[in-house]
Order: sequence, then structure tokens, then C-alpha cells
Amino acid sequence: MTSGLDRVLRYVDAPLVTDEQLLRVHPAEYVDTIRAAIPDSGYARLDPDTVVGPKSLQAAYRAAGAAVAAVDLVMSGEMESAFCGVRPPGHHAERTRSMGFCMFDNIAVAAAHALAEYGLERVAIVDFDVHHGNGTEDIFRDEDRVLFCSTFEHPFYPFTPLLGNTANRISVPLDANAKSEEFRAAVTEHWLPALSAFRPEFVFVSAGFDAHRDDDMSHVALTDADFRWVSERIVDIAKASASGRIVSVLEGGYELNSLARCVEAHIRVLMGIHS
Ligand SMILES: [Zn+2]
Repeated sequence: MTSGLDRVLRYVDAPLVTDEQLLRVHPAEYVDTIRAAIPDSGYARLDPDTVVGPKSLQAAYRAAGAAVAAVDLVMSGEMESAFCGVRPPGHHAERTRSMGFCMFDNIAVAAAHALAEYGLERVAIVDFDVHHGNGTEDIFRDEDRVLFCSTFEHPFYPFTPLLGNTANRISVPLDANAKSEEFRAAVTEHWLPALSAFRPEFVFVSAGFDAHRDDDMSHVALTDADFRWVSERIVDIAKASASGRIVSVLEGGYELNSLARCVEAHIRVLMGIHS
């Protein structure tokens, strides 16, 4: 790593998620279906986008396990915040449906762990991936202890209908032409008032960087500075009511140069290192 961050970061190996942790958000029949679909060799498709190989189940178990372990490290006070650089991503995985490269909803598994294991009463999930976090929305639709704030290009994959905002859901669609100004206005005018009023005890981040202008997975054109800016706002929210507790989990991001720069900037902000 050329950023120099490896001298100050603490790396932790991702454990496998346990069935107890996974089954808080996905039914056993769904997990069994995924397990049965894993091929002994070659590849299989869970949906047109989601291709799996023999080791994919282990990768998915470790991705969700990383997010759970991050919650434990932050709740124990060993870390103030943690970033999980995992694949596969998770936010498109609904309670009973895998799609969009996602098998299990990592951020939802982590948030459910914080609620069940530590008795938290209010957790927030913010999702700035350019695609709508339909899985997270599906899983926590009727969960008052979770506030889900998202921005996403619309209309666009995964083509979920806009359900309208409620006390625990702030969805802000962005036009395909949206740039910094529209994104920052969405966060400032919609996310931040809701988050301030909700006073989360823990802040989760579905950190997708595919809204970057160099990432041709979408049309929205954000810059490195926008991802730094939204990371700063998230830290402000976490410091105000959650003792700074943040677990951020990688979602999308497909242009590797901008992805590397923006993840580095995101981690620097989480650590309070200002470049
Ligand atoms: Zn995405």
C-alpha cells in the first residue's frame, strides 16, 4: 500500500459468520438454497449478475463475519471505528433473494448483531452506493430501531419502486445527471436532519464508491472530494450521539483507481487523519 496507512491501521482477519448471526436477517431455507447452489467446480448463477464458484460461500461467510467482528471490536472499545474491505458486497441481498453480486446483506447482518447482542435501541445505516440498497430496505422495512438513509441513481438498477420516506427510511433518488451539488444537497437536506433527530447509538455505512465520475457503472458523477465530505458528515453524526462508533462495509466500486483513492480518503476521515 503506497498510502502509508498500513503503519497506523490494525488489520484483523475476517471470521466466518455463524448461522445464528446470519439467520437474524435471512431465513434458514434461503441459506440452504444458496448453499445448494454452490458448484463443486466451475461456475453457477444465482441471478443473471451473481456468479458463484466453489469458494464463494466461504467468501460470503467471511464478508458477513467481518462486519460482525467489526461490531464486536467497536462495541468492546478496542476500536472506535472499522472498515471492512470485503467481497462479495451485500446491500442488494434481500431477506430471501440474492442479486446484484450479493449473497448475504453484510451490513444488515452487522446491524442486527448490534441490536441483538448489545441491546442497542437505535442504529443508523447510511448507504451512498449509486445503486439502491434494496436488500437493506427489505430487511429493515418494519424495524423501528433502524434508520436507513440512502442516495442512489433513479431510475436505475435494481429498479426497486420508491416507497416514500418514513420515520425509519430516508430514500433520496438522484437524477442520472447528478453531480456534487445534488448529492451534497440530498445529504444535507434529507439525511442529516433525520440522523440528528434519530440520535443513533451506532452508525453503519454501506460504502459504495460507484457514483464516482470515473466509474462507468453509473451516470452520477461524484468526485474524490464528495466521498471525503460525506465521510466527514457521517463521522460528525457518529460523534454527536454514538461515541464515534462506525462500522463501514465496502459495497460497489469498480474503477480501481478512484476506488483506491476514495477508500483511502474514507479511512483517513474515519481515523481522524487529515491529509
Ligand atoms: Zn453499486
